[in-house]
Formats: sequence, C-alpha cells, structure tokens
Amino acid sequence: MSVKDKVSEAVEALRKELVEFTEELIRIPTANPPGENYDRCVELIASRLEEIGLEVKLIEVPEEKLREYGLSPPRICLLAYLRGSSKGSSLHFNGHYDVVPAGEGWTKNPFEPVIEGGKLYGRGSADMKGAIASMVAAVEALATADIDFSGEASLSMVPDEEIGGFNGTGYLVEQGLVKADAAVVGEPSGIDNLCIAHKGALWLEITTVGKAAHASMPHLGINAVEKMAKVVLELAKLSEKLRERKTKAPMPEDVKTPTIMVGGVISGGVKVNVVPERCSVTVDRRLIPEESLEEAEAEIVEVIERLRREDPELVVEVKPLLKASAAITSEDEEIVKSMIRAVEAATGKPPKKTGIAGFTDMRFLNTLMPTVIYGPGRMEMAHVADECVDIDDLVTAAKVYTLCAIDFLSR
Ligand SMILES: [Zn+2]
Repeated sequence: MSVKDKVSEAVEALRKELVEFTEELIRIPTANPPGENYDRCVELIASRLEEIGLEVKLIEVPEEKLREYGLSPPRICLLAYLRGSSKGSSLHFNGHYDVVPAGEGWTKNPFEPVIEGGKLYGRGSADMKGAIASMVAAVEALATADIDFSGEASLSMVPDEEIGGFNGTGYLVEQGLVKADAAVVGEPSGIDNLCIAHKGALWLEITTVGKAAHASMPHLGINAVEKMAKVVLELAKLSEKLRERKTKAPMPEDVKTPTIMVGGVISGGVKVNVVPERCSVTVDRRLIPEESLEEAEAEIVEVIERLRREDPELVVEVKPLLKASAAITSEDEEIVKSMIRAVEAATGKPPKKTGIAGFTDMRFLNTLMPTVIYGPGRMEMAHVADECVDIDDLVTAAKVYTLCAIDFLSR
C-alpha cells in the first residue's frame, strides 16, 4: 500500500471522530473579546492529545504581561509533541482556539453546531476550530497508522489571535518556546489554496491639541477639530502614493497595494459652545511584505511634520495602537514544496499560491522558521453569521497535514 493510500485510509477511519471533535470545540464558546472559557477548551484539546499519546505542556501567560494589555487570566497556550522513530526534521502546526463573538444575523445557534448538506455550522467552524480538529486527526493518523516517520511533529494551540496574537503565538515565540524547521498555520485558506504571505497593519491614534475657549469668543482658543481636518485630508492623500506600490507576493489582485484608512474612530470636543481642546482620529495603514512598520510610521510622521512647519500652532501627538508586520515565505522553501505535494496527493491538483489581506499569527512564527497557512475553512466564512465548514474539507485538510508531515519529516 502506498503512503498516500495508508494516510487516506487512516484519516477516513477518523472521519466521525474528527467531526465530533470539531463540534465539541464549537460548543465551548471561546468568544474573544473578552476571551472566555479558555481553560475548558484547552483541557479538552489537551486530554484528546494525551489520549493519542502526545506529550502535552500548558503554558499560562503571566498576569503581569496580561495587565499591559488590559486582559485578565487565564490565557493558556498548549504545546504538544509527537516523536518519530529516529532523529530528523521537525514540523510545527499552529492553531488559535479563540473565536470572534457570535454577532448578529445567525439563523442557527452559533455555539450548538448542526450539520446540513455536508456542512458543519457554528462559530469557529471555519476560523479555526475545524483546522484544530484536522490537525489533531493528523497527529492521530501519524501516531496510530502503520506509517514510519522520523523527527518530530509539534503543535501549538493558542488563545488571543483574534485580538492580535500577542498573548498567544506571540508569547510562545517571544519566550523561545516554539522550535521547528517549518510551521503550518491552520487559518482558513480553503483546501485549494496555500497562503505564503499576508499583509501587515499599523494602527495609530493621532491627536491634535488646541486650546479651549468660550465659543462666543473663539479667537481666544485654538480649535483642535479644525486642526485635525487638515491632518485628515493630508493623510488621506497618502492613498495615491501607496497605490503606486505593488507587492510581488502572490496576493489577490485587489489587495496587492498598501492602503491607508483614516477615521475608523474619531472623537473631539466636549460641548456645543466650547472650542474643542482635543481631537483624535485613528489611522489603519496596511503594509505589503516589502514594507517595514518603521517606514510606514515614518511616512505618516513626515506628513505631520510638514504640516507643523506650515502651521506653528499645530500640536500633534501620535500614539501607536497596534503594530503587526507583514509576512512572506519564499516559494523555494521546502515547506512550500512539501505542502504543494501533499495537497496534490490529497486533492488531485496542486494548490494555488496566494496571500491574505489581514494579518495572522504567521508573522510571529515566520521570524523563527518558514511558515505557510493552510486550513479547511474558507476565508469568506470567517467572522460572518452562519459560519460553516465543509466536512469533506476537514477530512481533506487532515490528510494534507499528515502527508505533509510524513514528506517533510522524512527528508
Ligand atoms: Zn483565525
């Protein structure tokens, strides 16, 4: 029997269990914010992996660190290891178990999964509890099927991806707790796509500071909102300049350029008859992999500095809210080639190489090892009402993960 057939048989035998485990995960509402029921969810994954025979470690993010982000414990990361018959390469699988809140518009109960027409519905089915279940099925197939492999497959199951990942994958990477030759993140790429890049984000809060005065005598004050109006218009003009840049990464055509969006949140003034002393707007700047966060921030500061030279009364504060770098993995990396072979073996055709407009935990892992994104859900299903995943795709992804592990680890 070929390896491909053995893997197919082993994973198909786990189909029922894989679907049920996805359902069990969805039933634990790990909505973030605020980030709840994490302990129950981690315990469920840990006990499943221990039953399969993996060594499991739980890492609690320290309270002091959480406080910096205004978060409360517990925030728990799970690490698990499956060792092959001899020394060799190592491959890491990563998934986040937090989900975005259910939101409005559901025709089904978001936390009581149902199956209809071959699809499993529930919050997190696509993003990305389905992928976690597929990864667990893959290590079970590796552990139980009569397939020899060398080296080590490891897993990390983390919280808080949906709020930036700093206390999940970011924490593990910062503490040096993840080591491998390559990594696969299970974000919903769809089974026909292999994501090798994503864009980055720089979020800023910009505040103009004026001087309050009675509105009947505005000449005695400095109007922070009027000052901000100039800043907003000049920053929005950066769009034209950004449109001239285009990434070489295989991103979808409509997201190949960097972007800037000003005014997601705006606030200023206290009363109708008081000259506003402060005005704040947020800026969302998206970066292509060729750009750095430092360059993007400097470009914005430069616009403000120019305005300040023209208007000595202009006082501006710039506060970073979030910094997430873009990420890209070379198409020449072994993990990319290995995933392409695995997808082709499992689905009959090679995946389309692509990238994601949003940012993911790939950016943390990518600083240590070549990382790709591959998961059974579809990106358009993430964060929407009636989120669902194809059951066949859960099974296919488990086959792909298993085949990729065998291929990559036996190099
Ligand atoms: Zn996700």
